[in-house]
Amino acid sequence: MIKVLFATSEVAPLIKTGGLADVSGALPAALRAIGVDVRVLIPGYPQVWAQVGAVQSIAEFTHLAGFPASRLFLGTIPNNDVPLLILDCPVLFQRNGGPYQNPTGSDWEDNPLRFGLLSKVAALLGSDNSPIEWIPDVVHCNDWQTGLVPAYLHFDPAARARSVMTVHNLAFQGNFAPPTLSTLGLPAQSFGVNGAEFYGHFSFLKAGLFFADQLTTVSPTYAQEIQQAALGFGMQGLLHTRAADFTGILNGIDMDEWNPATDHHLPAHYKMGKMTGKKVNKVALQTQLGLTVDETIPLLGVVSRLTHQKGLDLLLEIAPRLTELSAQLVILGSGDAGMQQTARDLAAQYPDKIAVKIGFSETLSHQIEAGADLFIMPSRFEPCGLNQFYSQRYGTPPVVHATGGLADSVVDCTAETLKDGTASGFVFNGMTAENLYQTIARAISVYQDSRKWQTLRKLCMNKDFRWETSAEAYRQVYISALENPRSPE
Ligand code: ADP
Repeated sequence: MIKVLFATSEVAPLIKTGGLADVSGALPAALRAIGVDVRVLIPGYPQVWAQVGAVQSIAEFTHLAGFPASRLFLGTIPNNDVPLLILDCPVLFQRNGGPYQNPTGSDWEDNPLRFGLLSKVAALLGSDNSPIEWIPDVVHCNDWQTGLVPAYLHFDPAARARSVMTVHNLAFQGNFAPPTLSTLGLPAQSFGVNGAEFYGHFSFLKAGLFFADQLTTVSPTYAQEIQQAALGFGMQGLLHTRAADFTGILNGIDMDEWNPATDHHLPAHYKMGKMTGKKVNKVALQTQLGLTVDETIPLLGVVSRLTHQKGLDLLLEIAPRLTELSAQLVILGSGDAGMQQTARDLAAQYPDKIAVKIGFSETLSHQIEAGADLFIMPSRFEPCGLNQFYSQRYGTPPVVHATGGLADSVVDCTAETLKDGTASGFVFNGMTAENLYQTIARAISVYQDSRKWQTLRKLCMNKDFRWETSAEAYRQVYISALENPRSPE
């Protein structure tokens, strides 16, 4: 049985800022179901301690050069009983705020040290010097926060584990000023083109992409896109040279957590063949948000970080025109201050047609998936995206830009795709406000044709996005890492 340490900086339901948490909360359970012995490693943030049940102390690290003392506890992820290793280091992780930022939204200044320690401990656990008996065959690293693991393993003669580096979003790279190096206990030669150096910075992600035995990202299309300059964020050359060790594996979703027939966040349940509950959710959502209550008005939903990546500036630009199509719009999200303000202004201008909730709400996000008619995701780039899966499962066809995982998981609704049973949403090429507007208008015209609409909704809800398929693909990657170890000069 392959043993895998899944090292991550967030895991649902304990701590979440985005899709990485959903993946970390679900993929390990799916891997265990197919016989991979996975344990998850996460920092002991206050949010983790507040929710995790009984734990036992299993190791202490007092002599890791450059790092404060820390301890390792063993517990389980509450939802699914996956073994959870919690890295306890109060001076680095026990603070108010988010996992990466302080309460005012600035990055924690000691992030290199915080995630350096996470990486260091993950690598140590994969070596003969590990203080615990269970030694992984593979350390699976996720995004820049664990990007140094492959570097530590590479420079440690006692290293035993192979490494897999998964990119959930290449835009976040963990690039820091070079002096960082001396505090992290890595040798000077790690800071070179063949290593962690990235345009004069010390890059956690670059180190991972250079030293890991295998690389993956979260959709086949994104794997291709980031080997090119337009979306490669400067890493395209390296990724291209590593193409033979680089796989795109589409994320799955937690089909139990996201199930309109049982979802405890919803005022009413529904499933295929029994769709009345969806209308009840729509009316409840309109009422709760102060929109005109009318089940025939097309209601467009958004749940997203409000950032340039997500392309919502284009949606805000066309929002007044959408109200002329007599559509309603609900936006749940937070992020860019300017975008938040524009959204709030629109809600004030069209109180019965546009509702905006700035903030993070798991409950409202489920209610929007269920209560909206269409879900809007005009991302400029999207490594995988999750909401397009959730919205299909909830019978809320997504409108998406043809990029990354959106292109891999949504099939444009045409006469042909409705007939052959593949249609699952609305897809546009060319990232312009006009293209988005025309596609939403096209979607609304399908919405108004109730036969077509019912067919489309049924096709969406019939789709299977369970994690098992992806878990099997990850197992193959672990096998490749074990069979073909990388040997960089
Ligand atoms: P990303 O990781 O780039 O933010 P994804 O679509 O991969 O985007 O995943 C985002 C996840 O976070 C989804 O589960 C989405 O529903 C959730 N999410 C984003 N913003 C909010 C919010 N304001 N409230 C609740 N959930 C949110």
